[in-house]
Amino acid sequence: MTIADERPTQSGEVHTHHSFCRFCHASCPIEVDVVDGRAVAVRGVAEDPLFAGYTCIKGRQIPEQMTHPGRLRTSLRRRSDGTFEEISSEDAMDSIGAELRRILHAHGPRAIASYTGTGGYQNSLAIPAARAFHQGLKSPSFYTSVTIDQPAKATAPFRVGIWEAGYNNFSDAEVLLAIGYNPLVSSFGPVGGLQGTNPYVALREAQRRGMKLIVIDPRRTEFAARADIHLAPRPGEDPTLMAGILKVVIDEGLFDHEFCERWVGDLARLAEAVSAFDLDYVARRCDVPADDIVAAARMFAAARKGTSGTGTGPSMAPHSSLTEHLSIVLNTICGRVNREGDTLESGYFLYPDTPKRAQVHAARPPATGAPQRVRNLRGIRGEMLTTALSEEILTPGDGRVRALIVSGGNPVVAWPDQELTIRAMKDLELLVVIDHRMSATAEFAHYVIAPTLSLERADVPHLMDRWFSAPYTNYTEAVTPRVGDVMNEWEVFWELARRLNSTLPLPGGDAPMDVRPTDDEMLDLAYAGSRMPMEEVRRNRMTVHPDKRLVAQAADPECTARFTVAPDDIIEEIGRVRSEGDSAAALGVDPADYPFRLVSRRLKHVLNSFGSELSVLGAKGSTNPAYMNPDDMELLDLADGDLIEITSPRSSIRAVAESAEDVRRGVVSMAHSWGGSSLTDEKVRDIGTPTNRLVSVDRGHDTVNGMVVQSAIPVRVSVLERINR
Ligand code: SF4
Repeated sequence: MTIADERPTQSGEVHTHHSFCRFCHASCPIEVDVVDGRAVAVRGVAEDPLFAGYTCIKGRQIPEQMTHPGRLRTSLRRRSDGTFEEISSEDAMDSIGAELRRILHAHGPRAIASYTGTGGYQNSLAIPAARAFHQGLKSPSFYTSVTIDQPAKATAPFRVGIWEAGYNNFSDAEVLLAIGYNPLVSSFGPVGGLQGTNPYVALREAQRRGMKLIVIDPRRTEFAARADIHLAPRPGEDPTLMAGILKVVIDEGLFDHEFCERWVGDLARLAEAVSAFDLDYVARRCDVPADDIVAAARMFAAARKGTSGTGTGPSMAPHSSLTEHLSIVLNTICGRVNREGDTLESGYFLYPDTPKRAQVHAARPPATGAPQRVRNLRGIRGEMLTTALSEEILTPGDGRVRALIVSGGNPVVAWPDQELTIRAMKDLELLVVIDHRMSATAEFAHYVIAPTLSLERADVPHLMDRWFSAPYTNYTEAVTPRVGDVMNEWEVFWELARRLNSTLPLPGGDAPMDVRPTDDEMLDLAYAGSRMPMEEVRRNRMTVHPDKRLVAQAADPECTARFTVAPDDIIEEIGRVRSEGDSAAALGVDPADYPFRLVSRRLKHVLNSFGSELSVLGAKGSTNPAYMNPDDMELLDLADGDLIEITSPRSSIRAVAESAEDVRRGVVSMAHSWGGSSLTDEKVRDIGTPTNRLVSVDRGHDTVNGMVVQSAIPVRVSVLERINR
């Protein structure tokens, strides 16, 4: 039933709607009980063929999120004294539109930027609309959070070459090598890995059918605890460990000879590059038993199917692109691709129906987007690099960013280098933040736009469409009416484009600009040309389509392309890693001065810090603790709850120490994107602290995708306040 279908009802009558959760990207189907237009309960859908009733604690708090007293129901405008006043969305759009017109006229289209953060990825129209807004304006300044957590996923495959039919599926994998990700908490894994689709059951069933699990993680995470082999290297040493594993696979001849003969052009060069990573060296440097490294290499190579993949751990650590490259290369030389006749796991229903042949597309330059004005970087895949955006705002000259629209993100606690980010926010001529709460970034905004929340909008599970472990479709309409004067993110871009006499070009054509379209009309335009038309998607909620499985086709007999597993810059970087001797050296840091490594992590009850304001989730902790090994705590005479100072070469944060047996010695494990805008953390026990303050944008950044080191950060720890004794 839709809210449009709903007949006028007696007050207090319960109506149950099917929808799906958009708290995180996993898109779990939910039943929502609605009373008098208000969601009162959310639960999983037992009969869903893929999720079988699964939800997590976050999703079940959606009713409180919708009506939370801290939720913004009206847009705000900053007064000259820094306080905020309410403003209607119509007036806000008029004022912002006028400001954008002025900036456009004075500085040109590049001066207008937008940034879509993690929250925007749960809204299937937020990114298409933001991208279209920039296309209409001819402004390249389109930024997203992809380039602050895993840009190597967008660049590394191009450097190796792309297998058109994709790498092996999870559903029939005989082995899984998971490097620095924990889908049991994050609800997300790389392609071919375990996803958040009922992950505990999916893992149990996979292991029951014989799948072997190898986890590389400095923490004994929930995932690592279930592994057949857990390698817990020193943080930042993933490239060394992967080079060591590749050397074992190559030296012992465990790779797929026939596949490499046909499809890999430069295996000998790779063998030469990793030859310096002999077992004793790798074991010593990573502090991992040599026998375990050999066992992991043999276990991975012995399987017929199954992939290696990385998560945000190595993707945010030094040499992130190299780690991603080596993981892809391990899959490649072991032939872990879908062969002719193999079925693909996901349906790719929301993507164009492109060929899926069992052949490679040759390597090409990974970053060919618009040039950044700083650090000799370029954009990737139609977007610019968020790690360079603060500098784009602060660096004088033509093309300087002067206006920023933030959609579903919180740069002040998420972008690398908090102090630099705050300077950038203050320097903007116009900062517009679309957020349902007064975030640390909203404090600096000229306008804060109150958005709709999930149950108030129509959506499709666009992100998971190519990660579902079956060809599955779902759709939801809005199941509750809007609360207050709120706007869907896409509506903000539409209203502003209209006021700038611009357009929103989408795959199905330009959005009509005379009358504001509906969510569904916009979904039709944004997902036009997809493998399954939107009309059919709407009719097929919570449906697996066994008859629509994609099957890998035969290669074009004329195809002569090969994978490039050892390009020049990778060879050079492998050599550099070998000569550095310690990952801290990649940052120009003497490890003796900073003996700990701070690593990023997830917390089960929140998405970054998102949700910590809700009663059930907030009761699980109001801060992002600094988890440390009990032996390190004892050495520093620390107890749970003591206040510590964590210092990197860039800056310091205060944090609340907590012991955790699952963290290896020498490691501080913290969730990111917590805290506020104060650089001195007075409220650390109430709101946490942002680890982005410890990071600088120009120290050890990736020269291709600009990625900044935000995990395995060299730090030292000192005691600020001992409590409880
Ligand atoms: S895993 Fe994500 S999508 Fe599923 S219920 Fe939890 S928060 Fe919602």
